[in-house]
Amino acid sequence: MKVAVFSTKVYDRKFLSDANSPTQNELVFFEPRLNRDTAILAAGFPAVCVFVHDQVDAPTLELLASRGTRLVVLRCAGFNNVDLQAAADLGITVVRVPAYSPYGVAEHAVGLILSLNRKIHRAYNRVREGNFSLDGLLGFNLHERTVGIVGTGKIGLILAQIMKGFGCHILAYDVYRNPELEALGGKYVELPELFANSDIISLHCPLIPETHHLINAEAIEQIKPGVMLINTSRGALIDTQAVIEGLKSGKIGYLGVDVYEQESELFFEDLSGAIIQDDIFQRLTTFPNVLITGHQAFFTAEALHNIAETTFANIADIEQGRSCPNEIRAQVPA
Ligand code: NAD
Repeated sequence: MKVAVFSTKVYDRKFLSDANSPTQNELVFFEPRLNRDTAILAAGFPAVCVFVHDQVDAPTLELLASRGTRLVVLRCAGFNNVDLQAAADLGITVVRVPAYSPYGVAEHAVGLILSLNRKIHRAYNRVREGNFSLDGLLGFNLHERTVGIVGTGKIGLILAQIMKGFGCHILAYDVYRNPELEALGGKYVELPELFANSDIISLHCPLIPETHHLINAEAIEQIKPGVMLINTSRGALIDTQAVIEGLKSGKIGYLGVDVYEQESELFFEDLSGAIIQDDIFQRLTTFPNVLITGHQAFFTAEALHNIAETTFANIADIEQGRSCPNEIRAQVPA
């Protein structure tokens, strides 16, 4: 199939080209994101392939459909950037990669926890400048500490398994109980109890209306003073302004985030020569106890390989008229 592949970096091109060689789709790589302005690039392509920051809204889908596109292939799990109802109305099929890097994301969360606790990011710079002082680098043992995990699906469960290995106690909150977490010795509690008793809180639930700004001023009131807050899930789970107030008062002792509410304006691009206009983001970067990475938790060789393999399996299913297990459809109202 002829596929217009949007938002591609060098690494995407490599992994997608390698995985495509047996299937022989005709791939045309475009660097820009898909949106209303760039949809014209896909004229005559039956399929477009997109990632997390492409805007697959109704006007973009209408432009795509009017020029022959019938398939939207997501290279990611989340589909909050796709208007599924508009796609259905236009006869466009949407497929995704539901899981590609649960170990990678959980391991990155652990990396943030260890770095923040032992100040590895600060020690790295100090030692390079010949400063071997230990002042300000004091950490704490993870052993016997309590980790509160919100969302115990694939990634949350793996994080629980890893933290159990450090000798941590696990508290959990989810709308569904995962028996594997309970088998590990993890205990499900309501959110206020998790907030009050966790030394580290890590977010692994999806961004949906019920979880938007889950960590807000009210939640911060309830947390244990000095808590470490980790978010590798979606930026809008956190009310960033409220978290900044929590950092200023000392209620939040550490913040590690791989995602940010307004990240689509910043992440995945080299803006080192630009003046960043987002004052909230810039304020976050001034705290010594805040560690930010730019949505890289998924970014392992295994994940890029899995994304590419599943992407072409999805295309083959649709092209050959088979039912595709990774097709997503608009929810029919009850
Ligand atoms: P998953 O679907 O396996 O697990 C999500 C869990 O959240 C489920 O157990 C679900 O029941 C639970 N949940 C749903 N609503 C909830 C609520 N209101 N409160 C608490 N829990 C709720 O998903 P996963 O593969 O573990 O991924 C988790 C999240 O990680 C994704 O939603 C995505 O946003 C994020 N993610 C980030 C990256 C990255 O690179 N930073 C990569 C992949 C996924």
